Amino acid sequence: MHLVAVGGSDAGISAALRARELDPLSDVTVVVADAYPNFSICGIPYYISGEVTDWHNLAHRTLGDLRDTGMNVRLNSMATDIDVAGRTLLVVDETGVEDLIKYDQLVVGTGAVSARPPIDGLVGDDALGPADGVHLLHSMGDTFELMRTLETLHPASAVIVGAGYIGLEMAEGLSARGLSVTQLEQLPEVLSTVDPSLGALVHAELLGHGVTVKTGTTVKKIGRAPSGATGRFKVDALDTAGHAIVVFADMVLVVVGVRPNTALAGAAGAELGVGGAISVDRTMRTNLEGVYAAGDCVVTHHRLMGLTYLPLGTTAHKQGRVAGENALGGSRKFAGSLGTQVVKIFDMAAARTGLRDHEAAAAGFDPLTVEFIADDHKAYYPGSHRITMRYTGDRTTGRLLGVQLFGHKHAEIAKRIDIAAAAIFNEMNVDAMGELDLSYTPPLGSPWDAVQMGAQAWVRDQQSIGR
Ligand SMILES: Cc1cc2nc3c(=O)[nH]c(=O)nc-3n(C[C@H](O)[C@H](O)[C@H](O)COP(=O)(O)OP(=O)(O)OC[C@H]3O[C@@H](n4cnc5c(N)ncnc54)[C@H](O)[C@@H]3O)c2cc1C
Repeated sequence: MHLVAVGGSDAGISAALRARELDPLSDVTVVVADAYPNFSICGIPYYISGEVTDWHNLAHRTLGDLRDTGMNVRLNSMATDIDVAGRTLLVVDETGVEDLIKYDQLVVGTGAVSARPPIDGLVGDDALGPADGVHLLHSMGDTFELMRTLETLHPASAVIVGAGYIGLEMAEGLSARGLSVTQLEQLPEVLSTVDPSLGALVHAELLGHGVTVKTGTTVKKIGRAPSGATGRFKVDALDTAGHAIVVFADMVLVVVGVRPNTALAGAAGAELGVGGAISVDRTMRTNLEGVYAAGDCVVTHHRLMGLTYLPLGTTAHKQGRVAGENALGGSRKFAGSLGTQVVKIFDMAAARTGLRDHEAAAAGFDPLTVEFIADDHKAYYPGSHRITMRYTGDRTTGRLLGVQLFGHKHAEIAKRIDIAAAAIFNEMNVDAMGELDLSYTPPLGSPWDAVQMGAQAWVRDQQSIGR
């Protein structure tokens, strides 16, 4: 049995590890386009900021660790063609030498690539790029190019296009390096994955740390600045009223999301689905015989929404593991995502799980969303912080559908959203959140934990509306 995984990040490596774990006699090969297998690209902002001092430390496992599990890892090897009927994979190494690898089962984990919006100066033959100081950010290769700009051009200022979670992490990372950062976001508020009232709190945190934020601002052009300008680049944008906005900066980072990397599987005949991602069932099978796929290149089965595209590292790990197990003959199903995520923004954290109001309505629920503020621990004990919560539940059935949190980075935002994620996963009602036996000591919590107080506030509103 020869399992071949294409892609050396979360999905491909998880599949390979699971196969080796289940059957130490299995022959497992991972084909990786670059030289950085099993790197935690989620940690890139913290290497850029200087908090992670050595990029090698971003590796979940070293190449030696991976090889010690018994898998073969082929670095700098680009898979270029799948012959589904013949069960072979064509691979080209960095010197151009081709090799045909025979497989019994294939797992495609080709991930995602950065979206490149149609901004003048970012697309086309004369587009500016990393050598100029204009960057996208997804891979370790992108990271090294960005570090080269920081270390050789010594920029004093940066424009970040995009205020999603990576844009926010990078605003913090570049600020930590002493750059003056301007963040430009097309949408009305930053971090559009949470409701605008929480986005506004994130916005305030950015401003409080010296980041200039311009929302409702669509970037149209990135060009070289005229001599004598206050930066090497001139970024032209329009606000929602159509007024021109011009920002000068020494470097530009464009982080406006990703698109699934489906070229390899698509050319072999794989069906594509939501968001142009590879269609898979919950066993991670594609429509191609003997071909599984997992991670950022595939559609996401969401427990409340059905099929969507929601690329996240946590999901890629789980899907890869399912694919690896099933490629060996198993029958595991991916349980589904709730889109649970958390991001640190300077001293604060924002998190969400499940559905927001409009998503719940679109999924056929009858949503009610309630905002509530509670302390993370008893206020009489020093160092307590306020947590702003938004609860979404179905007003007819009382089912918990989604929770969003914003609070201090020491207010256990991540673990509190995980309580909500566990509750939604298990299809609990909002009311039942109050019955959970959660821990309490005054320096760390309250007899009713903040998440329970938020749930009780939702139930009060639901009942008062129902009366
Ligand atoms: C800066 C940053 C921060 C992030 N932070 C978080 C976070 O905090 N939490 C979270 O859940 N997620 C986070 N993510 C998202 C997370 O990193 C991705 O969801 C995850 O890496 C997806 O893993 P993957 O294996 O599907 O794909 P990718 O990580 O995209 O990897 C694809 C792999 O396939 C290889 N490859 C592609 N094509 C070929 C080919 N033809 N032949 C051979 N190899 C090929 C690539 O070299 C790579 O090894 C972050 C992402 C970034 C960029």
